[in-house]
Amino acid sequence: MKRIFAVMTFLVLTISLAEAQRLPEIARPENYKLTFTPDLGSAKFEGDETLTIRVLKPTSEITLNAADIDFHDVTIASGGATQKAKVTPQKEHEMVVLGVAKPLAAGLATIHITYAGILNNEMRGFYLGKDDQGRKYAATQFEATDARRAFPSFDEPDYKATFDISVVADKGLATISNEKVVSDTPGPGDKHTVRFATTAKMSSYLAALVVGNFDYLEGQADGIPIRVYATTGKKEMGKFALEAAEYTLTYYDKYFAIKYPYGKLDLVGLPDFSAGAMENTGCITFRDVLLLIDEKQGSVDLKKTIATVITHEMAHQWFGDLVTMKWWDDVWLNEGFATWMESKPVEAWKPEWNLNLDDVSNTGGTLNVDSLANTRPIHQAADTPAQIQELFDGIAYGKAAAVLRMLESYLGEETFRAGVNAYLNQHKYANATAEDFWDAQANTSKKPVDKIMPTWVQQAGAPIVNVKVQCSGNSTSVALTQQRYYFDRAKFEAPNDQIWQIPLCLKGSSNDNSAPKCELLTKKEESFTLPGCSTWVLGNAGGAGYYRVGYQPEAVRALAKDAETKLTPAQRISLENDIWGSVRVGREPVGDYLAFAQGLQSDRNRAVLEDLLGGLGYIGRHLVNDNDRAEYRTWLIQLLAPAMKDVGWEPKPGEPDEQKALRARLFNALGYDARDPQAMAEARKIADKALADPSSVDHELAGGAFAIAALNAGPDFYNKVMAGLKNPKSPEEYYMYFFTLPEFSDPKLLQRTLDYAISHDVRSQDALQLVTGVLANPAGQQLAWDFIRQHWSELEKAGGPFASAQVVGATSVFCDPGLRDQVTEFFSAHKVAGAERTYKQSIERINNCVNLKTQQEPQLASWLGQHGNAGGQ
Ligand SMILES: [Zn+2]
Repeated sequence: MKRIFAVMTFLVLTISLAEAQRLPEIARPENYKLTFTPDLGSAKFEGDETLTIRVLKPTSEITLNAADIDFHDVTIASGGATQKAKVTPQKEHEMVVLGVAKPLAAGLATIHITYAGILNNEMRGFYLGKDDQGRKYAATQFEATDARRAFPSFDEPDYKATFDISVVADKGLATISNEKVVSDTPGPGDKHTVRFATTAKMSSYLAALVVGNFDYLEGQADGIPIRVYATTGKKEMGKFALEAAEYTLTYYDKYFAIKYPYGKLDLVGLPDFSAGAMENTGCITFRDVLLLIDEKQGSVDLKKTIATVITHEMAHQWFGDLVTMKWWDDVWLNEGFATWMESKPVEAWKPEWNLNLDDVSNTGGTLNVDSLANTRPIHQAADTPAQIQELFDGIAYGKAAAVLRMLESYLGEETFRAGVNAYLNQHKYANATAEDFWDAQANTSKKPVDKIMPTWVQQAGAPIVNVKVQCSGNSTSVALTQQRYYFDRAKFEAPNDQIWQIPLCLKGSSNDNSAPKCELLTKKEESFTLPGCSTWVLGNAGGAGYYRVGYQPEAVRALAKDAETKLTPAQRISLENDIWGSVRVGREPVGDYLAFAQGLQSDRNRAVLEDLLGGLGYIGRHLVNDNDRAEYRTWLIQLLAPAMKDVGWEPKPGEPDEQKALRARLFNALGYDARDPQAMAEARKIADKALADPSSVDHELAGGAFAIAALNAGPDFYNKVMAGLKNPKSPEEYYMYFFTLPEFSDPKLLQRTLDYAISHDVRSQDALQLVTGVLANPAGQQLAWDFIRQHWSELEKAGGPFASAQVVGATSVFCDPGLRDQVTEFFSAHKVAGAERTYKQSIERINNCVNLKTQQEPQLASWLGQHGNAGGQ
């Protein structure tokens, strides 16, 4: 599954309140024969299931998972006799017990079940959606524990089986499932019956079915037919995705050295979809904005996102689908791997996008989550559906990916790939654990991977490696110490005996022409020697480390001076994160961070500046007080103006994608964070042009332009944006208008946005994004918070029954003790299932921000006093 962390934030998937309960190990499924007859009009379906099982020991009871299933007839055949089964539901465990009078012998048995289910509107199980024209469709979303809503099943990842799926659908409706169509015959009545080929052995959460009005574009790669499906009328927007998928399939065939293991590949864009995308075997489903794009007008940003969502889900076809984690406590094996892998094919396909640098930047973002006391280890026990769902977080995705990247860099690309290949071959069409993965890597590489990995996977948090440098004669001694890093200063300074085995690479200021020295730090304190006399030594020279580096203050200043000339872009991004980490715990004054930013004034690397602008945005938003705001903004304008001048305000024909993306970043920072009058005037010009003729602007600048224009705009502009929402040409255009709605400053308009969010005009997966958008807008913070509390019962229902966890997470934007107390009070009285850790993290983030502000505000004011008006170098 793919979570969306950027603008289109992920809605936490639906979570059930059911209690912990695992199926008893009495029987295993071999084959499911399933026929679904959905009735889109009445939102119901009929099911006919023939389930072949292997009984492991004699029993008179078979337990299956089932939820919201209405059983008609159930029989079990074994040893030539067929018995009627008594059906005893165990609702609280989402299970059903099928009992027979005469015990079943060990060996094969066949369960036949006829039943009815509901096409729900919760975007889980088998559910009903609607396209822009109001036409209904039915689709499935099973991960993690919702296959049981579509058919009684052994709904745990370890129970793999083959599937023969058929569907009886209204004439004219397209039907898509995991495998190719083997027959499509008219009847019964005015319907048609479609039978799909038998699937490979797979887990129940990977089965899929879509029925509705869809068109497709078709291509192929390595002999595998690939289709991109869109709701009728939109298929042309699937061109980019098709190209990406074709490239990726060939790439993965080579990388994994195992050919794509299924008969075909479909990519299906769905208007109503709770997650970002889902890797169902051979039938990947997407939220449509993450698949369909107008190639000419579409932004580079969205193209990058679409490409990486596709490569992520396609990586799962091997990592997740072919080899599956034994239980959800190792879901990181799926998600961390796919997140790590997603950049590789895109880097090969579009090297000009510099995705490798975004990986470095993302590592910094993940370290921020892992610097909270309320983080969790990568490997985490989970039993209930709610606990399982909470594991799909930044740790399973981002941290696991970053740790794999560090491991790959330590072993070498080819050795790591050979280990992956050995692991996949050992466990294909079956299941595996974390230990299986690192044992395969240890065997292939003959390096202590099985010692290194548990220190990252089993314990929570991340280390900071403190670097102390001393030059004597013609060599430099580098003393390293490791300790767990916390944003919370008291915790950071308290003794802590956690130790990691850290693969790291060192490079000194005098080692210009030599490769970094790579070592494994296994103790609390260790010293290494580098040739030459260096004033500073980089502690994460490859940028591949999942740790922070703590430099001595004089080294920070020397590094800042040399950053532009001596460091690679990846090293500059790592250094930015490291200096910021030192500011956060009070080792460095915030002025050193701003001085570092000034040192990068001639940097034109999109990824480096993007990273830096993130930090400067945070400072502007949280640490600058009202008295200093104007001065900070002036300083920011002076800092960014030269880069903007170089890049130019207007897009140039044929310019590189990175330049387009950099222009958009600078434009947003100048307009939004710095309130630069020129950028604000430009923004209004672009937005007005887009409103008059949406096809006249490219989407690169338009999204930001609308948000900036909204800052000073009134009801007229608001109404035009609303009107734009009614008839967009592409999903991207729709969201361009949509995400403008929370950005106004006028409270009356923000109130309209909040009311609109809970109206029927907003898709349920999008509703909370408007509310949390207003919450993140300083002009709307109190308004949104009051609204949330007043309308809690409605919001709890929006976006699926448990998407409200997203609201809990969004309160972390507060930086104020009064609001923190209100959050505590409110969520103590209104407990949100599956958001326990999220709640603790939000409170911790607010506290961290309040403390940082108290500590750095005066220092920031005095730094601005000295440097603000002078600006520049
Ligand atoms: Zn995934």
